[in-house]
Amino acid sequence: MKRVCEVAIVGSGFAGSLLARVLAVLGYDVMLLERGAHPRFAIGESTTPLANLSLERLAVRYGLADCYSLATHGRWIAQVPEVRRGLKRGFTFYRHHPGERFAEHGLDSERLLVAASPEDALSDTHWLRADVDHHFVRRAVEAGVTYLDLTELTSASFDESGVRLDGRRDGDAVEVEAGFVIDASGAGGFLPRQLAIPSGLDRTHTRSALVYSHFDDVRLMRDVAPSLPQGPYPDDWAAVHHLIDEGWMYSLRFDHGTTSAGFLLTPRAVARLGASSREPEWLWHLLLDRYPTIGQLFGDARPTMPIGFVPKVQHRLTRAAGARWALLPHAYAFVDPLFSTGIAWGLRAVERLALAFEDAAKGERRPDIATLERYDAALSAEGDQIDLVVAGAYEAREHFDLFAAQAMLYFATVSFSEVSQRLGGGDAVAWNGFLGVGDPVLDPVPRQSFERLRRVTRATGGQSDERERAEFVEWIGRTIAPRNVAGLADPSRRNLYPIDTEVLIERHALLDMSREQVLEKLPALRGLGPPPHIRRASTWLHTATT
Ligand SMILES: Cc1cc2nc3c(=O)[nH]c(=O)nc-3n(C[C@H](O)[C@H](O)[C@H](O)COP(=O)(O)OP(=O)(O)OC[C@H]3O[C@@H](n4cnc5c(N)ncnc54)[C@H](O)[C@@H]3O)c2cc1C
Repeated sequence: MKRVCEVAIVGSGFAGSLLARVLAVLGYDVMLLERGAHPRFAIGESTTPLANLSLERLAVRYGLADCYSLATHGRWIAQVPEVRRGLKRGFTFYRHHPGERFAEHGLDSERLLVAASPEDALSDTHWLRADVDHHFVRRAVEAGVTYLDLTELTSASFDESGVRLDGRRDGDAVEVEAGFVIDASGAGGFLPRQLAIPSGLDRTHTRSALVYSHFDDVRLMRDVAPSLPQGPYPDDWAAVHHLIDEGWMYSLRFDHGTTSAGFLLTPRAVARLGASSREPEWLWHLLLDRYPTIGQLFGDARPTMPIGFVPKVQHRLTRAAGARWALLPHAYAFVDPLFSTGIAWGLRAVERLALAFEDAAKGERRPDIATLERYDAALSAEGDQIDLVVAGAYEAREHFDLFAAQAMLYFATVSFSEVSQRLGGGDAVAWNGFLGVGDPVLDPVPRQSFERLRRVTRATGGQSDERERAEFVEWIGRTIAPRNVAGLADPSRRNLYPIDTEVLIERHALLDMSREQVLEKLPALRGLGPPPHIRRASTWLHTATT
């Protein structure tokens, strides 16, 4: 089988399929090559406001009505109810201690809730990836993408005229000639192996192993710890994070009752537990037994597939793009799911490459070298930044006051980006640095914070005194102040943060806007615009490409 196309995309996760579809909408001849077949299980499920903002921008710019629907829980269940998802109102964190039930200690609470949306209808979602990725593939095919599943690629060769990919499908040889190739194969790493791109893992700090599955019959925290004071949203309808001595656990509940859950374990814990030589089931139950409240939550839970173990979830490369090729973020780097950065980062890259191909549509029909270098530099800086924020949080984990302060750095950064992008708008913001990269205030902070945390905890297993910790908390509050439009790092909130538009209005000057300007633009915080906007964009695009 021999095929010729302008762009070949390897890997049909949501990111590869969505980019393939956008390029088809722009008039490119696109092939999407997948090793497996849909529907299939995939991990990485919890979205964030920045992810949904990217989805809305893609929807509006390229006329993708379903993407607009998928960007909030309310629109999703109204428009695409057959695609399964979960309600995510925010980020919930609890610190557990071995042998102790989770307790609420008043003002010293080891519970942190940060709302990401003011109400259910506007909220983020957890994606049941089997359904969502299948949906995106089908929509790509409808848009004109040629899709080949069950295709095992064996080689890629580049020359002046283009790229040649060889592989096999159902015993037959497959040969694809393309002008440009995009690797969306995630940790599969097809192109990195072909191009022998060196690993960049040694420049990163975060290391964790994973024990995970999907489960039915997981109990609610509300039922297991009914005396918790009311938070800004129901604790369980969120990305729930249980911090433990060995690392942390995520728990993401889908609307149909299944829960995706996994423990991320530090190398020290892996060694201490002998995790690599044990059955994942054994490890799972050991951790449930060690933490009574988590044990109660998952005591009657039944895995819907075998519990899996991944000894190291991190990967990182030293190049993300070159002449005639580019990697999507998950093919380039992965840090850790703490703070759910993966989907948002992936969608941002889809936007950037889509804009690059838009610019190229009337010329070379592939992004120019300067744009690819810009893309490479952006991913490199952002990969480092995600690593520093997450590594800092791991470092801080021993003490909830330190952890909550480090979390404030993440939340201040993303809430400032979200609000300024929603109020300030424009599609070029897709090139704005992710997680504060390039921001004159925030850019250096994750590195400084990580170094400070290491000094505070002395990097030797949590020795630190209260005064040093209080200084760190105070430093974070002071440092994020010029970007703190969400009223974060406020002790009077007792670690329970709702969406507070009053604070946003009060702090208008941080956005370089007058109070009246912020008031006028407030509706934009609820979404970029209703479907007619999409229809207009669609018409514009059709005219522009024909
Ligand atoms: C434990 C864990 C939890 C996570 N949780 C979150 C979270 O809560 N929120 C979040 O935002 N992110 C999370 N992530 C990150 C998230 O998983 C990724 O950002 C996301 O999956 C990237 O999607 P993608 O479409 O780029 O790639 P993938 O989902 O990795 O899809 C890659 C596709 O390529 C195919 N493929 C692989 N190799 C080949 C090949 N050689 N040829 C052809 N096809 C190939 C695969 O079959 C697959 O279909 C998590 C990651 C992990 C490890």
